[in-house]
Amino acid sequence: MSDRMNRRQWMQMLGLSGLTASVGALGTRATRAQGVGESSGFQSSVITTHKVQTERANARLVDGKVIQPQRELPILDTTDVLVVGGGPAGVVAALAARRAGARVTLVERYGHFGGLWTGGLVLLVIGHIVKGGKQVCQGIGEEIMRRLDKLDGAIMDRRPGVNPTVDAEAVKYVMVEMIEEAGVRVFLHSWGVDAIVEGNAVQGAVFESKSGRRAILAKVTVDATGDGDIFAAAGAEFEHRSHNVGLVSRIGNLDRVDASKTGGAPKPKHLGSRTPVPGVNWVNLHGPEVDGLDVATLTRLEMSHRKFIWQNIQKMRQTPGYEKVYLMETAPQLGVRITRVLHGLHRIALADLKAGTKFPDVVGVGGSENGGHGEWPIPYGSLVPVRAENVLAAGRCIDVEIRMADLVRLIPNCFVTGHAAGVAAAVAAQDGCRPRDVEVAKVQRILRQQEAYLG
Ligand SMILES: Cc1cc2nc3c(=O)[nH]c(=O)nc-3n(C[C@H](O)[C@H](O)[C@H](O)COP(=O)(O)OP(=O)(O)OC[C@H]3O[C@@H](n4cnc5c(N)ncnc54)[C@H](O)[C@@H]3O)c2cc1C
Repeated sequence: MSDRMNRRQWMQMLGLSGLTASVGALGTRATRAQGVGESSGFQSSVITTHKVQTERANARLVDGKVIQPQRELPILDTTDVLVVGGGPAGVVAALAARRAGARVTLVERYGHFGGLWTGGLVLLVIGHIVKGGKQVCQGIGEEIMRRLDKLDGAIMDRRPGVNPTVDAEAVKYVMVEMIEEAGVRVFLHSWGVDAIVEGNAVQGAVFESKSGRRAILAKVTVDATGDGDIFAAAGAEFEHRSHNVGLVSRIGNLDRVDASKTGGAPKPKHLGSRTPVPGVNWVNLHGPEVDGLDVATLTRLEMSHRKFIWQNIQKMRQTPGYEKVYLMETAPQLGVRITRVLHGLHRIALADLKAGTKFPDVVGVGGSENGGHGEWPIPYGSLVPVRAENVLAAGRCIDVEIRMADLVRLIPNCFVTGHAAGVAAAVAAQDGCRPRDVEVAKVQRILRQQEAYLG
């Protein structure tokens, strides 16, 4: 017999059937009046009942050591291109690979797309332009921006040569829309914890979620986790770096600051910059230089940054004129900038930017902070590991020397490397070759068809 009970049955069980209409009406009125809250119309069912399980593969404590036994994993999906990480690079990679004709699965540890751009509330888009205001980030990244243009309150400062600021919810919305339109298969709430390898070739990845540990098999995997979690698990070489780890917040009511009360006093610190939401600023807390892979450090900073931000706002509220300013939210996601950086076939170097070096395997062009210098080509080799096959890096973990990393990791440059990785992965999967052997001219042709700018 089904355990499912509808509202009427529930009322009958309680002997309240005569009251159903009036309780329902009351509930509806109350809900309407508040505009929020829960109704009485819930449905809950028992899915299965778990008795003692004999076939378990728990970690075991053996002689003081924790041993993880061997076990077979269910295969959740088999695909051409697996993209791990749904940030700016991963979303663009998934769209590019799908539009190039591959079957694509995108996996993300959190419940939304956008990575640091949305979950980290990093709302200002810098790096799409170079000297003279020329825009070098085109293609799918630019398409995201154009779609934001069309939504009310989604983006501001889209004049040529200016750095736009977005609304994170609008970005999440646009990304869902584009991923659905393209027909990318998605698994959210799935944390990539291992690479599936055969020899030194990646054959997919293992994910942990509330459903348990599952495998996804893929011809080519794109590591867009920002931290190189998958290429590191696959045994690729990388550099482990420290960087500032901060936390962004949004503060509200800045349009209600009473200038008549400030008496010409200097403005309080940490007021941040404007967002598309009136009266709301985003505030970038840089944080200390630490190891962004160390869980104890991440935990400590999550707590201390939030305390600092809250206390700072309380101080600000004591400043005459600023009494109504309030903390709207701290970003759900800590601001980790750089951790693992791939050792690839090519390292992006400042000397090449200065010398204007051209590369035959160019798959994109990077921009700079506030158009501070000229354009720099991004060679395909910076996405391809020296060791480990069938895996490409995209976004802030591609091969870049330390002095250039702060340019490479800017959002538009992550769009660009995501775009390149997605197309290259699709071509490798379709042509049955290793990503390092892909026909670069074909990748470049498809990228141009997808409106990417390659210089
Ligand atoms: C505080 C701060 C301020 C910044 N300010 C600016 C700015 O003003 N302008 C600008 O252009 N850039 C700025 N940046 C840089 C920019 O935000 C990032 O470098 C950019 O978002 C990187 O994109 P990405 O896709 O490579 O990685 P991320 O944005 O980090 O996305 C990675 C995605 O992968 C997911 N993921 C990670 N690990 C796993 C896993 N194991 N399994 C499954 N999913 C996983 C994450 O949840 C995330 O969604 C700033 C960064 C920080 C931290």
